[in-house]
Amino acid sequence: MTEDRPPTIDPDDVADRLEALPGRMVALQQRLEAAAGNAPQARPVLILPVSKGHPVEAVIAAVDLGWREFGENYAHELSAKAELLSLARPDVDVCWHFIGQLQSNKIRTVANEVGVWQSVDRAKLCREIARRSPGARIHIQVNLSDDPAKAGCTFEEAPELVALATDLGLRVEGLMGVGAADDDEATAVAFRRLRALVDALKLAECSIGMSADLELAVRSGSTLVRIGTALFGPRG
Ligand SMILES: *Cc1c(COP(=O)(O)O)cnc(C)c1O
Repeated sequence: MTEDRPPTIDPDDVADRLEALPGRMVALQQRLEAAAGNAPQARPVLILPVSKGHPVEAVIAAVDLGWREFGENYAHELSAKAELLSLARPDVDVCWHFIGQLQSNKIRTVANEVGVWQSVDRAKLCREIARRSPGARIHIQVNLSDDPAKAGCTFEEAPELVALATDLGLRVEGLMGVGAADDDEATAVAFRRLRALVDALKLAECSIGMSADLELAVRSGSTLVRIGTALFGPRG
């Protein structure tokens, strides 16, 4: 984005995406229904379209189809899209979910845009969100892999983080987790463990499932699937 050349929206790109999205949404809903089948744990599931890595045209097309909630991973990308969207569709209010690794010094820059903070995994982030966005809706992210370098608190830490965030006045709606990319068995076990913790903590939301593992997630009791590729195609 340069100052002399204001960013523009490509209407042809929006039109192409408007053609592609409804079919992908139908296919996704069919996958979700087939997965739920008569699985005893299956519940109603919210589809959160994840627009990270896609241009604002993808969001504009989705907004024109009536979608109002989007997931983004990076603060600068979220801010840029929110700004362009407000120029292109000034009457539309969308709810952005922050789902990427969160740095406390970036919270301020997107606090006005973010409606749900899904990737909260430490006390410092709870405090900063409570300061910049009092009463905000959050999820606590739990690390579902054995790799401590991955985002998320441990299963053991989650209850105290939920308690801390609640004490700080935040609305803890649920827990979020990312499955292991290449290990269905480990992912299924971790999804079920997360679902059990959601129940034990009496929370409403269990945010699990992405394009590649949404069937496992639905059968494990997901209430919110975060879908990028299956809706918007491969990221550029
Ligand atoms: C990118 C991302 C998604 C969407 O992934 P797809 O595989 O494209 O559906 C969901 N959740 C998180 C945390 C992500 O980073």
